[in-house]
Amino acid sequence: MSRIEAPRDDDTMTVGSLTDRLLAGLPAEAVLTDPEVTVSYANDMASFCPAGTPAVVVLPRTVEQVQHVMRTATELRVPVVPQGARTGLSGAANASEGCVVLSLTKMDRILEINPVDRVAVVEPGVVNATLSRAVGEHGLYYPPDPSSWETCTIGGNIGTASGGLCCVKYGVTAEYVLGLDVVLADGRLMSTGRRTAKGVAGYDLTRLFVGSEGSLGIVVRAVLGLRPKPPAQLVLAAEFASAADACDAVCRIMAGGHVPSLLELMDRTTVKAVNDFARMGLPETTEALLLAAFDTPDPAADLAALGALCEEAGATQVVPAEDAAESELLLQARRLSLTALEAVKGTTMIDDVCVPRSRLGEMLAGVERIAAAYDLTIGLCAHAGDGNTHPTVCFDALDPDESRRARESFDEIMALGLELGGTITGEHGVGVLKKEWLAREIGPVGVEMQRAVKDVFDPLGILNPGKLF
Ligand SMILES: Cc1cc2nc3c(=O)[nH]c(=O)nc-3n(C[C@H](O)[C@H](O)[C@H](O)COP(=O)(O)OP(=O)(O)OC[C@H]3O[C@@H](n4cnc5c(N)ncnc54)[C@H](O)[C@@H]3O)c2cc1C
Repeated sequence: MSRIEAPRDDDTMTVGSLTDRLLAGLPAEAVLTDPEVTVSYANDMASFCPAGTPAVVVLPRTVEQVQHVMRTATELRVPVVPQGARTGLSGAANASEGCVVLSLTKMDRILEINPVDRVAVVEPGVVNATLSRAVGEHGLYYPPDPSSWETCTIGGNIGTASGGLCCVKYGVTAEYVLGLDVVLADGRLMSTGRRTAKGVAGYDLTRLFVGSEGSLGIVVRAVLGLRPKPPAQLVLAAEFASAADACDAVCRIMAGGHVPSLLELMDRTTVKAVNDFARMGLPETTEALLLAAFDTPDPAADLAALGALCEEAGATQVVPAEDAAESELLLQARRLSLTALEAVKGTTMIDDVCVPRSRLGEMLAGVERIAAAYDLTIGLCAHAGDGNTHPTVCFDALDPDESRRARESFDEIMALGLELGGTITGEHGVGVLKKEWLAREIGPVGVEMQRAVKDVFDPLGILNPGKLF
């Protein structure tokens, strides 16, 4: 993105004058300029992706303050990088050189929970788990539940179109975002969508913003759809002697018309990493551990039917959790997978390839081949019920040869995903990490149209430049 041209007639725009302009509409405590502090906002969790040094970090608390930041950035032609909790895994929240980092974490109020309309209205900095618990107190349920839910924000979830464990039954973030308030690049405020159960007035700009990775505007308020809270889910763990058998079980479960509330897979490497990291006592003899759950009125009966299918597919052990507490422990183990794999070699590159469920077995076999060919540890966990795999390349970022092999294997996994009729990213987004691959997936005409959309919303190219394309 090279359209940003400094308007500095006299070429004298400095960090100092940028800060002064920002301070005209923001309180002093909301403008951070100490380089030792601002540098800590340079990266999301994809720390190996390139990132620039922010000129300044701003932490607005109101919509008007966000509008002031965007007006200032437009006037001065300064790039702006919106950030939530920076738990992203693709570098989509990484700073651009000399940018304003616009952190939305202080806009963290739940403005309304309405059981009749079944909506919540929130600011973007609300943490996912905080919202889930708050709506739970009203007998309601906000389903999207990324494993990072205790830290990630709703703004970031919207930016990346997040998924999570329960999506196999309840769908992803896009299905729950009904309406948005967005501050545009030039500071204007736009409302999209609705808070009604239905609504088809004009183009669906709400959906356009979901997954736009901060490249089209700043989400400052969201109307989110809610569901009645389901009964507590009961989890079953099934061990398999091969990944192929576990994938066969997934196919039998889905083809059999079952609707589990989660269907997750952890391979042997991931199970061992979680045990090493948190002493969870998971079975290390298994080649693949499948976790399934039901939140139906009779989860034990539904799990028994699902367990029988696992056995038909060759499960060596099928163990239902005894109660909600044991179920939660198994889920904790799954949620820890990426963090635990990070500890194996210090750095990870996390693929996010989603394939049609019927090709899951081929995907897992291919990843195993790639790991052997590049002589690397690649742990794999997956939202198996969605076909969404996370082959996680573990490497030492200080070893140039291993880093090169890590990147090449990471790319080969995406190529395999596309070959199998999948997508390069099921939920983590393109960011910096996969931007060379977007065109391969959507083609040149697709890229041209997406760039045209970007130009309408951000003609100066100041919003999160260098991401996506
Ligand atoms: C341990 C771990 C487990 C994870 N598990 C999952 C998982 O199961 N499923 C999943 O989908 N992801 C998962 N993730 C990835 C990550 O947590 C999600 O992508 C999450 O949605 C990012 O939220 P965030 O608040 O950290 O956003 P950030 O990383 O700060 O930002 C993400 C993107 O959104 C944009 N953005 C943020 N706020 C706004 C705003 N207000 N307006 C406009 N744009 C904005 C940013 O510019 C960036 O492009 C995991 C990450 C970790 C570390």
